Amino acid sequence: MRLTVLGVCGGYPAPGRACSGYLVEAGPSAVLVDCGSGVMANLGRHANFRALEAVVLSHLHGDHMSDLLVLRYAVQRALAEGGRTRPLPVYAPPLPEEEFERLRYKQVLDPRPIDPDEKLELGGLVFRFLAVPHTILTYAMAIEHGGRKLVYTADTSWFDPLVEFARDADLLLCEATLLEGQRSPGHLTGREAGELALRAGARRALLTHLWPTLDWGKVLAEAQAAVGEAGLPVEQAGEGSSYRI
Ligand SMILES: [Zn+2]
Repeated sequence: MRLTVLGVCGGYPAPGRACSGYLVEAGPSAVLVDCGSGVMANLGRHANFRALEAVVLSHLHGDHMSDLLVLRYAVQRALAEGGRTRPLPVYAPPLPEEEFERLRYKQVLDPRPIDPDEKLELGGLVFRFLAVPHTILTYAMAIEHGGRKLVYTADTSWFDPLVEFARDADLLLCEATLLEGQRSPGHLTGREAGELALRAGARRALLTHLWPTLDWGKVLAEAQAAVGEAGLPVEQAGEGSSYRI
């Protein structure tokens, strides 16, 4: 399984960067997880959008789905020109209802509500979901393939069940929007991200959903301090970087 980070910014993109977007591949299958501002431009460097198995959205905030509005046009052209033969499935939380309904686009995008009680298999990748506390319905996801486990927290405040959900993850892709002392509902600090990785027994952690105006080095330092001498590598997710899991 391979993860390629297409965007790391939370809220809105820092200059020249992109918001949340992650390409997850196993063999010939490619699934796009989240599709925030700037993700489409970066996706083209790493994959053929015409061949995507599906898109999976953690929640329906703009920094996680705004580029779907341009991806849908690209897919529409591909369908018309023969570069793709079927609509693109988009799995997403069904709330807010009006946002979910807006995903439907002609015979191009095929929105499907995520059912957290069911596993979802997409091209050999097995997804499981956990509703996490954010300002709208949001799903963290565990993605497994060939005995390896990738966990993406999505946007969340501290939530004890995430520790078990992320248990023994080979890679934890963890939001780290805030610095200690900052308050914003539905988000983690760098310290909390490090603590989650440590308590879950993750083998490696990448920090993402970084706030454009914060010093990301400080966020990373907080996370690393929380991990201490445990020997668990914690890094900032690299936009454009790929990670073999
Ligand atoms: Zn966000």
